[in-house]
Amino acid sequence: MRRFLIAGNWKMNCGPKETSTLLQGIENIIGNMPKAVDGLVCPPTISLTTASVELQDIDGLALGAQNVHSEDNGAYTGEVSTEMLTEVNCEYVILGHSERRQYFGETDKTVNAKVNKALNDGLKPVICVGESLEQRKANEHKLRVKKQVQGALIGVEEDDASNLVIAYEPIWAIGTGETATPDQAQEMHKMIREELSELYSEEAAAKIRILYGGSMKPHNAEELLQKPDVDGGLIGGASLKADSFTDIIHIANELS
Ligand code: PEP
Repeated sequence: MRRFLIAGNWKMNCGPKETSTLLQGIENIIGNMPKAVDGLVCPPTISLTTASVELQDIDGLALGAQNVHSEDNGAYTGEVSTEMLTEVNCEYVILGHSERRQYFGETDKTVNAKVNKALNDGLKPVICVGESLEQRKANEHKLRVKKQVQGALIGVEEDDASNLVIAYEPIWAIGTGETATPDQAQEMHKMIREELSELYSEEAAAKIRILYGGSMKPHNAEELLQKPDVDGGLIGGASLKADSFTDIIHIANELS
């Protein structure tokens, strides 16, 4: 019942010109998204307007931002509001990515405020959670991730569950070329879904997509996406090339 979501996190790559080139490359390969798969690209803020125009030609490929502020507007130099994102047709926003937690001081509390703001203003949050290598070695990974899920969802009602996306991204697998094994990913995704069932209901948890992120590439996507609780991917490096991104889309489509 859950459709695969294949999402590209472009991070601090691709200004407006490169954004046009990459999206035209994607369009040349796939045309529109295959019917069974949802697609998403999350370029840097400066490129969202360009991307929004390019995406008019690609059905099923949605637009998302990589961050948003939790206030409406005002004296927050360098920040961007939910209203600004929806004005340029953003449907999703990535929140709490480990790079934002690590380099920009984001905490479960700030992520939670942003999740509520995004949902209230009609954006679907892609909430990133994941443990460090030290936490995994100390066998604290489940507890850590459970706390991040609970912390991000304070004040979020069951009615909003179908608009939530969770991305499980073990920090040790992001940008390292090292991937969680499919069994490791499934174990964590299942635990996250159980937590969502506790917080809401089994029915609501069954609707929430849980993406895997951490060096997902065309060569390992199939075995990860085959796992029952892996509902797609949040893809960094491999989303920056039209061929590798569309290869993963095709793999998801074949498995649908
Ligand atoms: C990410 O940044 O969310 C990510 C998963 O990156 P990569 O695919 O490059 O590991």
